[in-house]
Amino acid sequence: MPNVAEPDAAGARGTSGIIEGLSERLQAVNCRIAEAARAAGRSPDDVRLIAVSKTFPPALLRTAYGAGQRDFGENYVQEALDKMAQLDDLDIVWHFIGPIQSNKTRPIAESFDWVHSVDRAKIAERLSAQRPAEREPLRICLQVNLGAEVTKGGVSPEDVPALARVVRSLPRLQLRGLMAIPEPTDDVRHQRERFAQLRRLLDSLALRNEGVDMLSMGMSDDLESAVAEGATLVRIGRAVFGERIRLRDGAP
Ligand SMILES: *Cc1c(COP(=O)(O)O)cnc(C)c1O
Repeated sequence: MPNVAEPDAAGARGTSGIIEGLSERLQAVNCRIAEAARAAGRSPDDVRLIAVSKTFPPALLRTAYGAGQRDFGENYVQEALDKMAQLDDLDIVWHFIGPIQSNKTRPIAESFDWVHSVDRAKIAERLSAQRPAEREPLRICLQVNLGAEVTKGGVSPEDVPALARVVRSLPRLQLRGLMAIPEPTDDVRHQRERFAQLRRLLDSLALRNEGVDMLSMGMSDDLESAVAEGATLVRIGRAVFGERIRLRDGAP
């Protein structure tokens, strides 16, 4: 059995405890995004909020949906499939943002709209081969490992152009941009430097690749820095749903 987050993260507090206040938290996050965008001279409409719902039960996604949220991010395949089955009546845009094992590419290719964590050619090839013909091409962001952190996935910055060429050559994938998860730091200057580095990589990629314009960067603690540096997709978990309970060793 895959390790599903069944006794859900909400368990300790009770799902109803989190549902209460969820739409206010969502609104507060949307305000943070809008303020950061305006401060940077950008339109708030150019930044899309992805609510990262890993470990949280379907009832919370349904509540967030009722409050207007459409994009949701998930890290674990089996957990996501269970939620999709229960939320089948909603028009959700599903983003896969977790590490990808090559034996899990099929359900990702079949069920998600976006994948943010492609970091090697083999995964890209499998996703393209397994994407059903009747679905739109799978939107892809390449995950970049900016700080050469050994514990983290992601293609190194030097290898981005070659991997981008592979993805562009695959018929059932549509390359849309880059994603990064920089090492956490409270130092705003350091946050911004990392995000700026990803933006420069995207700028140079975009010169040769039309339609590659998405920067997936920024989480609960650094979304302002990310938006200031050009984020178009921010992936926000805790600020929307509250603290996660760690369900597995090493689960983020
Ligand atoms: C969990 C996760 C997030 C959300 O992080 P928060 O700090 O809860 O906002 C964003 N991106 C990825 C890849 C994640 O795994």
